Amino acid sequence: MAKKEFKSESKRLLDLMINSIYTNKDIFLRELISNASDALDKLYYRSLTDKKVKVKKDKLEINLEFDKDSRILRVIDNGCGMTKEELEENLGTIAKSGSLNFKENMTKDEKIDIIGQFGVGFYSAFMVSDKITVTSLSVDSDEAYVWESEGVDGYTITKGKRDEHGTTIELVIKEDTDEVDYSKYLDEYQLKGLVKKYSDYISFPIKMEVTHHELKDEEKHEYEDHKEIEILNSMVPIWKKNKKDVSDEDYDNFYMDKFSDYDKPLKVISTSVEGMASFKALLFIPSHAPYDYYTQEYEKGLALYSNGVLIMEKCSDLLPDYFSFVKGVVDSEDLSLNISREILQESQNVKVIAKNIESKIRRELEEMMKNDRENYISFFKTFGVQLKYGVYNNFGQDKDKLKDLVMFYSSKHEKLITLKEYVEEMKEDQENIYYASGASIDKINALPQVEQVKDKDYDILYLTDYVDEFCVTAIQEYEGKKFTNVSDGNLDLETEEEKEQTKKVNEDNSDLLKDMCEMLPEVKEVKFSNKLKSHPVCLTTKGDVSIEMQKVFDAMPNDLGIKAETILEINEKHPISDKLKKLYKKDKDEFDKYTKILYSEARMIAGLPIDNPTEISQLICEVISK
Ligand code: ADP
Repeated sequence: MAKKEFKSESKRLLDLMINSIYTNKDIFLRELISNASDALDKLYYRSLTDKKVKVKKDKLEINLEFDKDSRILRVIDNGCGMTKEELEENLGTIAKSGSLNFKENMTKDEKIDIIGQFGVGFYSAFMVSDKITVTSLSVDSDEAYVWESEGVDGYTITKGKRDEHGTTIELVIKEDTDEVDYSKYLDEYQLKGLVKKYSDYISFPIKMEVTHHELKDEEKHEYEDHKEIEILNSMVPIWKKNKKDVSDEDYDNFYMDKFSDYDKPLKVISTSVEGMASFKALLFIPSHAPYDYYTQEYEKGLALYSNGVLIMEKCSDLLPDYFSFVKGVVDSEDLSLNISREILQESQNVKVIAKNIESKIRRELEEMMKNDRENYISFFKTFGVQLKYGVYNNFGQDKDKLKDLVMFYSSKHEKLITLKEYVEEMKEDQENIYYASGASIDKINALPQVEQVKDKDYDILYLTDYVDEFCVTAIQEYEGKKFTNVSDGNLDLETEEEKEQTKKVNEDNSDLLKDMCEMLPEVKEVKFSNKLKSHPVCLTTKGDVSIEMQKVFDAMPNDLGIKAETILEINEKHPISDKLKKLYKKDKDEFDKYTKILYSEARMIAGLPIDNPTEISQLICEVISK
């Protein structure tokens, strides 16, 4: 039988795994047991929905067998099994998405990160084995197949024999080295401990033959070895246990196993509700975004159990989009087992549970924001975009639920603050919540428009994420204070006197301004203004679309034709103003050149592209060579 090669990226991943960087090799056992348990879940669920598949729940089990002499360890289940194609598909490819970021000379952390992105899974068994043989008979097939591999070289699939549906994973455990005692995976006591530690909650019995030393003759102190099959796990799902009997480590282990994460969760939320729809839920906020989180492939959802029986791995109806990062399990006695996806969507009970879960998560996040700011900020840096997206999504219908969870960078505090904190610290004469948007904090700091607001000693929220401005626009106001972009043409921070003066200058020069405006078709208005301190020009906008929002629209694949209505503002106190006025009277040609240059400057400061850079650079040279 010819050896098949692993797909190339899988090969590299496997290589990393085998030459292992994972110090905690023990976890391979929990991975194999967890796969076995999934296979049993799948089979049991099939039996409820498919009359052809008949199984008795109390016959479903996982068996561990070991033999010190031949160094063999087996994990056996009588679950759904795999067909030949499934063996190929599931065990021939590790990196399904194929977007691994391999680099030369990776550090240990980078390697762990890569493996972590894919969940350690079945392949972790290669950390402790020289050879793996998987014999499987699918409930959908009459023939058993054997998948066999000694690591990176590839694998073979051949016909095999198995009496009952299910899968046997046979590992040939490595010889001990100076550093690693692999033999512990062939030791009864150690195996028992590992199952207790990592797989206790598995709802199917994990059985193993264990030896009891029994006192045979008290006087002679004679003992007799007596072997017996024992169930190693308590089988109580962790979410059904009393909170006081579960340690933080238990929760963390359960999370890492169930949701294939290499890191502990940032937060564990456990809740139990009695009422119209009673349920228990164990929810987790990951400490980092899953590798596919910001892609189309990511599926949100919670695992849904009906009284301990898994009905659905990812029930998306239980989570709103803005909390799509939450992982967890929900168990309810008020759900029928024979529930299909469609019925589930309509189920009143599911709706009630979902509502409860949503508000529980929200309360926990609010609490974390108040009492554990450091962790909240770490959470917000990872998943804040999702919350901000939630604010403006669906025409802002959820904004009131979320507005106290979002944070923005404050120019005064130089860190993230909440809207509540901003408003509480507002100056007495301050009417609005000011914000400025741009690509980075430094770029915003350099915006001419920011100067005037800072001069008044008002705090400014710096929006650097592309969703930010859409988010604040959707919120509109917080505690009666309106959000105002410092680049808004009507900022209205001048004194009455200053306003009068500017009005007069604009009236006196209306012809000049009109001509300038005509030369610049993209600009709605050109005006002298008082707001700029040291800068000669800037672009402001009127209406709902700001320049930063336009940039987002421009970057979209389909041109929506949404444009900001821009105003070119010229600093009335800057020497350039007098120069323009003079040129307008004396030298119209030169005036035109200045107009073009100034407009390009304003675009440049706003981070907008200049359509005719060659022309502009020539104009600048002409002017400065005079
Ligand atoms: P994961 O469990 O995260 O999907 P694994 O690499 O551990 O990744 O396993 C890959 C796939 O192989 C599983 O999704 C499952 O479909 C299949 N599989 C693994 N072990 C078993 C088993 N004991 N019985 C049936 N299918 C299995």
